[in-house]
Amino acid sequence: MLRRSLEWIALRSLTAKARSAELAAAAALSVAAATSARGGRAPILAAVIATDEPDARIYMERLFKGASAAGMGVRTVQLSATASEAEIAGALATLSADDDVAGIILQSPLPAGVDRDQVAASIAPEKDVDGLTAANAARLDAGDTSGALPATAAAVMELLRAHNITIAGRRAVVVGRSAIVGRPVAQLLRLAGASVEVVHTGTPDMGAVTREAEILVVAAGVRGLVRGEHVARGAVVIDVGIHAVGEQIYGDVDAESVAAALGPDGALSPVPGGVGPLTNAILVLQAARAAERRAGA
Ligand code: NAD
Repeated sequence: MLRRSLEWIALRSLTAKARSAELAAAAALSVAAATSARGGRAPILAAVIATDEPDARIYMERLFKGASAAGMGVRTVQLSATASEAEIAGALATLSADDDVAGIILQSPLPAGVDRDQVAASIAPEKDVDGLTAANAARLDAGDTSGALPATAAAVMELLRAHNITIAGRRAVVVGRSAIVGRPVAQLLRLAGASVEVVHTGTPDMGAVTREAEILVVAAGVRGLVRGEHVARGAVVIDVGIHAVGEQIYGDVDAESVAAALGPDGALSPVPGGVGPLTNAILVLQAARAAERRAGA
């Protein structure tokens, strides 16, 4: 039913497949150079996981599949879902000191009471392939995008660029202001020349702001939060949300009503198949580049 209505509207679907394949090819080249400079030893992408959530495991399996395809080794440090800050920080510090490890990922969610910023301080900044450390966040805040970027935020920008969507001079709205998605997306859009407004749980009338958006990025963590009545005709909407319900994956955007409201001149990123796969491709690429730098290749 949804597929039929989207086809009828002929809305542009901002898929990630082509760009993800290009990034995967670039990652493979970097890993090959690093491996050769290390005398044939593949660099490793490592993840610290302190949750039992099945979604986190599935996510990590997908990411590691991409890393393996690029030629990297992978390593998981599985901690309990009640691990302490000290245990998590210790695991991150051990990986930071391991010469074979080129990139480190700290999987969400973290156990209750664990402060992400506090433990992220134990990740060596040059191995911080998801832009989590204070050093990398401060660099982005200062307008420098040369370091590792928070991968999901970078994926949003890649998706816009891959589909030749003009950013400079346009009105952009970001729903959500988390440290890992909303805030860095807003900063990257600003740096790309958009005028950006951020909507969050304290915003009294979300729709009044989102209807003004020419580019709308939704990263609220609430399934189907943004509906047709919240968007302007012809806008570009990027759905960052991921909600697994059985075999299905849904976004933060109600795709059917939003597609109908956007009309044929609008564009919408699909879930699945949009920001998610591109985030993985960027993480692998950032890990591959870190490996190449580290190996002096
Ligand atoms: P979060 O819970 O840390 O932050 C959510 C933000 O949205 C907050 O700033 C909050 O103020 C805002 N928000 C929540 N409800 C709102 C409402 N009703 N109205 C306005 N603002 C509201 O979440 P997060 O980690 O930023 O993740 C956001 C979504 O993106 C989740 O669905 C998550 O699963 C998904 N995600 C996807 C990827 C990917 O690779 N595609 C990566 C990370 C997160």
